[in-house]
Amino acid sequence: MLDASSHEQDRFSMDLPAGSIAVVGVPWDEKSSYMRGPAGAPAHIRQALYSSSTNTSTECGRDLGEEPRIRMLGDLDLPVGEAAIATIERQIEKVLDQGARVLALGGDHCVTLPIVRAQSRHFPDLTVVHIDAHPDLYDELEGDRLSHACPFSRIMEEGLVSRLVQLGIRTLNAHQREQAARFGVEILEMRSWRLADGLPKGLGGPLYLSLDLDALDPAFAPGVSHPEPGGLSTRELLDIVEALPSPLVGADIVELNPLRDAAGLTARVAAKLLKEIAARMLEDFTT
Ligand code: MN
Ligand code: MN
Repeated sequence: MLDASSHEQDRFSMDLPAGSIAVVGVPWDEKSSYMRGPAGAPAHIRQALYSSSTNTSTECGRDLGEEPRIRMLGDLDLPVGEAAIATIERQIEKVLDQGARVLALGGDHCVTLPIVRAQSRHFPDLTVVHIDAHPDLYDELEGDRLSHACPFSRIMEEGLVSRLVQLGIRTLNAHQREQAARFGVEILEMRSWRLADGLPKGLGGPLYLSLDLDALDPAFAPGVSHPEPGGLSTRELLDIVEALPSPLVGADIVELNPLRDAAGLTARVAAKLLKEIAARMLEDFTT
């Protein structure tokens, strides 16, 4: 349930009820290329979620505060350095092994790589919808192949998913266009695509949503390390989440940087998206 007491009680309990959605904090930002900060994001998102300035209902009126299948597991306990990447994968896999599904709170976008490694073993025919200002398809950045600018190159090289669709993209350079062509990534660019144009043909589940908050325009979500003007509104993003095909089997919300989020507004946006995504995952569990 979405309240602070359940968060404390349920911390890393592996006693997850069947069909539950585990909300897992992944407080790791060592692969951020420009500035650190996203490691502190999960705590800020939970704080926004529990704030009595709002309530625990989704827009459709589903009260997640009354929903025992939503389990707030707190933050993963991670070692310093790249050893964290394997730890993230193992811990996510443990949750999936319980028959639960995972909604992860980053962290920088590197965390999606170990999460998708674990997810792909449970869902071999996975489609990823990646919503971001950036394609994160660099082969390497500043000599680092694990940079948060690279996870989708690694995911495609490792053959972890059958299809990768990117939305919100508005920073494609020549190198990343080549990478996208090489891996067969389907990019619906921000400058030309709107939801009214429709999602790509045949898009279906099992679906994993990787949501980088900088997909949103900085006017709506200023608290990120790489604000990129010309992005989605919060409303447009919520409508996209609602329009995604079922079943939505896993998701992450990454790249909130609390050090850039002076009014805490971006954490509010993340918390709202968490509720709507969790509700989608819950509904889709039975379909
Ligand atoms: Mn990203
Ligand atoms: Mn980004």
